[in-house]
Parts: sequence; C-alpha cells; structure tokens
Amino acid sequence: MGLHWGAPVLKSLIPSDLWDKVQSVQTDPHVPPAEQCTLSMLNGATGEPLTSFTFNHFYRLRRSALRTLLSTSLDICYSKKLVSITYPTDGTAVTAHFADTSTATGTLPVGTDGARSTTRSLLLGPKPGTTDAVPFGSAWVHASSTRNQVLFLHSFHPLYLDAARPLRFLWDAARAGDPGLLLRLVAVRRRRCGGRVDEGAATCAS
Ligand SMILES: Cc1cc2nc3c(=O)[nH]c(=O)nc-3n(C[C@H](O)[C@H](O)[C@H](O)COP(=O)(O)OP(=O)(O)OC[C@H]3O[C@@H](n4cnc5c(N)ncnc54)[C@H](O)[C@@H]3O)c2cc1C
Repeated sequence: MGLHWGAPVLKSLIPSDLWDKVQSVQTDPHVPPAEQCTLSMLNGATGEPLTSFTFNHFYRLRRSALRTLLSTSLDICYSKKLVSITYPTDGTAVTAHFADTSTATGTLPVGTDGARSTTRSLLLGPKPGTTDAVPFGSAWVHASSTRNQVLFLHSFHPLYLDAARPLRFLWDAARAGDPGLLLRLVAVRRRRCGGRVDEGAATCAS
C-alpha cells in the first residue's frame, strides 16, 4: 500500500523510534524514499503517459509488516465485535460494548471498522451510517514476472507503476537484487452487470 500524502501525518502520530523503522517495511526496503518523487499513470495499451502525481516522500509498504510495526507496545484485544456504545451520565467517558459482553471505557472512541462501520451506524443512525454501492466492481490478482519484465518495470520507477486501460495494473517490488521476486497486482475494474462484476474482465487478467 502507498502512504501517498499520508507520510507526514503518520510520522506526527507515532513515536519517532517507530517512524525510524518505516523504511524497513517498504515493499523494497533497499529503495530509499526520494525527497521528491513523481509517479506516472500510463495508458496500458500504448505506454503513453496519462497523468502524473508528485509527492514529497513516497512509501510503498507491506500492510502486514506495517501493522506489526504499529502494534508495538500496544495492548490489543482480538476477536471483539462492537455492538453498542454508551455514555456514562457524567459525560466524561464512553464505553464500547462487545458481543462477548465485555466492555472497554475510555475518553475517545475511534471507529476504524471499515466501509460498513458499526461505529458510524451507532453514532449516525442506521440510514446515514450506510454506504452507497458504486456501479463498479474490482478484483485484484497477484502475478509474478520474469526478470526482464521486472527490469522493464523498474525503468519507470523502482517501487510503483500504474497503468489504466485495458486493465488497471500496479506493481510492488518484493526485494532489491532479486527482481524475479516481484509481484504484480492487476486490478480489474468493470461496471457491474446485474449486481456482479463482469467475469469476462477477470479472464482477461489471468
Ligand atoms: C484494493 C485496495 C487498495 C488500497 N490501497 C490503499 C493504498 O495504497 N493506500 C491507502 O492509504 N489506502 C488504500 N486503501 C484503502 C485502505 O485500505 C482503507 O482506507 C483502510 O483499510 C480503512 O481502514 P479501516 O481501519 O477504517 O478499515 P479496514 O481496514 O476495513 O478494517 C476494518 C476492521 O474492523 C473490523 N470490524 C468490522 N466491524 C467490526 C465490529 N462491529 N467490531 C469490531 N471490529 C469490526 C473488521 O473485521 C476489520 O478488521 C486500499 C483499499 C483497497 C480495498
């Protein structure tokens, strides 16, 4: 995943010793973040540049490794399902209630429970808390590449390339010095047909 514009925000939120380790969870830890970096989106059929974005620091991170890093020194309880939120009468606290009848009380609840957030529905009510479906679906597949294919992709950017049309294509370097290990991510985005993603698109990606 890309930190994109979020790097300064994440840096301001975590202890400096954790931020110092962020480079170690890059998809390719051997590529130092450039002061300024321009990422291009190409027309996948012709190779022509469609647009580009410039960032001050670009990090492309392994999610599981980032999660492990950010979990350092935190007391995390797994397998808890939020079912309700109550406010003790003195108004200074908030209590989260979980399906196993356990509770947690604090001063600020932070809902990071995804697109179909229970926290949001509890705070806003069921109707405003729901999300609207967009008429597009997306499927992502991993594919490994030959060394020469990887070296070609590296020639655009050592960490990232995004191409649209006919399929959306992204890639992540797995390890410098062994470009045969690179994994491509191919995202297939198609208009939904009768509530399902057009399966023909997924066939094209394989
Ligand atoms: C294919 C894809 C690529 C992306 N790439 C990027 C990227 O490059 N950079 C970027 O910044 N963002 C990216 N995003 C977006 C990013 O992943 C999301 O914005 C982010 O994960 C949202 O975080 P979240 O914690 O709110 O929800 P999630 O990551 O969805 O996590 C929600 C968690 O809450 C749990 N949960 C749900 N209901 C309850 C409940 N009632 N009680 C307790 N737990 C509950 C779920 O089990 C889950 O573990 C991408 C998303 C997708 C789908």
